[in-house]
Parts: sequence; C-alpha cells; structure tokens
Amino acid sequence: MITSPLPTLDEPPAHGHRLRADAILARYLDAQLGSPSFRNRAGAARHFLHWVRLRHVPLSRVDAEVVQRFTRHRCQCVSFSPRAIQQPGYVTSVRRFVAFLEDQGAIPVPDLGPVVALLPAYGDHLVALSYSRGCRGMLISGAEHFVHWLRLSRVGAQVVSDADVERFAQHDCQCFLCRKRGRLTASGVLRRRRSGAAFLQFLRDRGLAPARGVAEEDPRLRAFRTWLVHRCGVTKQTVVRYLAETVRWLQSLGEDPSKYDAVTIRNIVLDQPVTRSRGSVQLTATVLRAYLRFLAANGACRPELVHAVPYASRRRDAVLPRFISPEAVERIVTSCHDATSTGIRDRAIILLLARLGLRAGDVCQLKLSDIDWANALLRVDGKSRRAAQLPLPQDAGDALLAYIEQARPVVPEDRVFLRSHAPFRPLASSAEIARIVAKARDRAGVKGGPSGAHVFRHSLATAMVRTGSSLESIGALLRHQSPATTAIYAKVDVVMLARVAQPWPGDA
Ligand SMILES: [Zn+2]
Ligand SMILES: [Zn+2]
Repeated sequence: MITSPLPTLDEPPAHGHRLRADAILARYLDAQLGSPSFRNRAGAARHFLHWVRLRHVPLSRVDAEVVQRFTRHRCQCVSFSPRAIQQPGYVTSVRRFVAFLEDQGAIPVPDLGPVVALLPAYGDHLVALSYSRGCRGMLISGAEHFVHWLRLSRVGAQVVSDADVERFAQHDCQCFLCRKRGRLTASGVLRRRRSGAAFLQFLRDRGLAPARGVAEEDPRLRAFRTWLVHRCGVTKQTVVRYLAETVRWLQSLGEDPSKYDAVTIRNIVLDQPVTRSRGSVQLTATVLRAYLRFLAANGACRPELVHAVPYASRRRDAVLPRFISPEAVERIVTSCHDATSTGIRDRAIILLLARLGLRAGDVCQLKLSDIDWANALLRVDGKSRRAAQLPLPQDAGDALLAYIEQARPVVPEDRVFLRSHAPFRPLASSAEIARIVAKARDRAGVKGGPSGAHVFRHSLATAMVRTGSSLESIGALLRHQSPATTAIYAKVDVVMLARVAQPWPGDA
C-alpha cells in the first residue's frame, strides 16, 4: 500500500487564482439566485471558467477576444454539453459573468473615465470643423463604440495606437453597445476606421493618447518592421497592413517564441470570425508565415514552425481574371460629370485606373512630384518598390490637369488626390478608391465583373490580349514581376493560346 501523501499539484502561482476565482464564482451565483435564467447563467459561468483554465488563460488576460474564442470553441469539455453554447442568451450570460469579474477586480480594466468625459467636447469640436450633421452623428457614435471597444479589449488611453484603430475597424462586433450587428461590410469597416482614427487624433491633440508611432514601439513589432523593410523590400503600405495584421494575433502566440507550438499557430489561421473574407484569411496565413520566418531568421523560434501555417487553398491558375467590356469602361468614365469638384477628381482617378491599369494603392500614393508634365510621364512606385515610368495618355493627362487646376483643394500636401470635404487629407486607402469606383459604376449602370479598382486592371489587360498585344508589353504596362502573372490573362481567350506559346521574355 502506498502510504505517502499524494504528490501535490504543481501549480503554485495558479493555485491562489483558482481559489479566488472559485470564491468569486460562488459570490456571482449567490447574486444570480432567484433570476429566472439562473440555470443558464450558472452553467455559462462554470463552463467559461472551466475552459479558461483548460486553455491556461489567466483571468487577468480575459477580454472580448477571449470571450469570442470561447463562444467558438469546439466544446469537448467534460461535464458540459457541447450544445449549450448554442442556447440563446448563453453568450450574454458569459459576458455578464465577465462584467462581474471586472467589477470584483479580478480582471483589470483600463480607466477610460477621462476619455469618456471628453465625448461632449468632441461633438463641439466636430461642429467647429464644419462637419455635416449626419457626418457628426456617425463620428460621435463611432467614437462611443471605439471607447467601448477599448475597454472590452483592455486598451488604455496611454497606449492606444493606429494599430488599435485597425483592430477596432475589423473587429467582429459583439459589443453590448451595438444593436446593429451582423455581417461586417466593407463600408462598415471604413466607417469604423474613419471614426476611430478621427477620435484618436482628437485624443492625441489633447495629449490623452501618445503621438503616432510611440505606442507601436512594441519591440517585437519594431524589429519585424525593420526586417520587412530591409530584408523584404516591401512598400510602406504593405508594412502597415502586415503590422496591423500581426497585432491581431501577436498576443495569442504568447510571449516566448521558443515555446510557440504548431496547434496555436494553426488555430490562428483557422479560428477566424466567419465575417472575415477568404482574402483576409489568406492575409493572416501570409503574414503569420512571414513573422515566423523573421523569428526563425533571428534564431528566436524553430524554423519548421513556418510549415505549421495552413495553406489557404487557392491555386493560382484557377483564378481567371474577370473583366468588363471596353464599352462598359467608357460608360463608367463618362459617368463622372465635370460640374463638381468631386466629379472632376473621380474622373481623373478612373482614367488613371482604366488607361494605365494602376492599382488603387498606386493612385492613393501618387505625388505631385511624380508627374513629369514635360514628357507626359508618370512615376509609379508599385509593389515591392519597383518604381516605373509610365506614359501618360492624353485623356488621363487632361483629366489629371483639370483636377489639379480646378478642383484640388489648395493645401500644403504633395499627394495628388485629396478628400473633397474638410479636412482635406489625402485619400488614405484603397478602400476609398474602391468606393469611388463603386459609385461611378452605379451611375453608369455597369453590373457584373469583380468590384473594386482591379476591375479596370483586368479589363485593360484583357482588352490588350484581345487586340493582339504581346504578353511582354502587357506585363510591362501592368508592372508584373513575373511572366506567370501576365500569363493568367492569356487564358481569357483560347484563340490567344497559340500566340502565348511563343517563348517567354527572358527564356533561352
Ligand atoms: Zn466547452
Ligand atoms: Zn463592437
């Protein structure tokens, strides 16, 4: 017979927490006694606590994202029914319990009191900037939502950054505050990004939030940024997108890269909100792979972990570029009327997209100094910082000149395309270009084909293939890095295949 005492469980730091959490649970259940949904609330609270322990998430780290992971977990918890999570009100019960944990001090919550107190002043500030009523309403409710989300995400005003605005814009909203939930649309993201960024700027101006860049000084991100710029030569926009994506899951990877494991890595790609598009999921996989490669290059993690990132299946040549007819392109161009400054701007943008096949990002980044009027050339940086000089066709050049001379607000700013309403900042993202394109297409009544600015790029390439341009010249205009990318367009027309069979540029 074994008479020695049983070995003690080896969990000295967690043990205290465990007792404390149990005590809080008991207190919570006491408080809920007599409620008609007591069974549901008690079950949800116990289940959540059980799962949090199973996943080794310390209570102090519980935030909106953890709650969301809980609601998505494939439940195999002992003594809990997997169907329980599907019960109506179950998630609300979990949140109620989390709120109780916050009240009891078991979960530290940032103090956003001073920020909340500024909301009325923010309204006055927007009036002073002469925003329209509707626009103010959108920005104010967006700011309230942002503050609410900051609290749920445990982000204090002292550390809030642009990356948080991006996380806010993309978050799968389950906030108490919002009645309008459901599928996250592109315009919804844009609205959140805009209202979050505007409010953050307001806080910065009042010294309540750190200046741009200061908060992002997480040393891991800083090193990753440097590596991306110097080792991969990617553009500024790509760096911003990659870092915003990294921020989404950096915490879930854990502190110590030498302890990263394949399961966590796989789950980051697979455990995504259903609202995220296929392209966004692919972005997660790409950036995660880049981040792991960066760590491995510095000897911080095992190189084989890169292979743990699942491949989002999409064979390159399975994607046929989709396009609209040349007539439809012309209809869209003429739909931008020259009577308003917005119309003049949009016409110039659409002509650049249609005639030169520029990417939306190229249009946003275009600077006044990139235009060589004397030689009718346009300098475009493009992906991977490969600058190119493109000939500026007559109509696109005229439209560009008309915009700069007649419609562009006079402000000290080198970027060509600015917002047409105050504040006159440069168009900030591809999404704004996509919105301009969508409006013009609506006006012209052009349906079908892909949405967004790329439709012009595809249509231009397709039209060039049809009129017999060589793949080499198409590749040069579209600034493709590899002939394989251009070759996708050859598939649009079987007749073209004979011509495509000619040797590739660069082949022996
Ligand atoms: Zn479970
Ligand atoms: Zn929300």
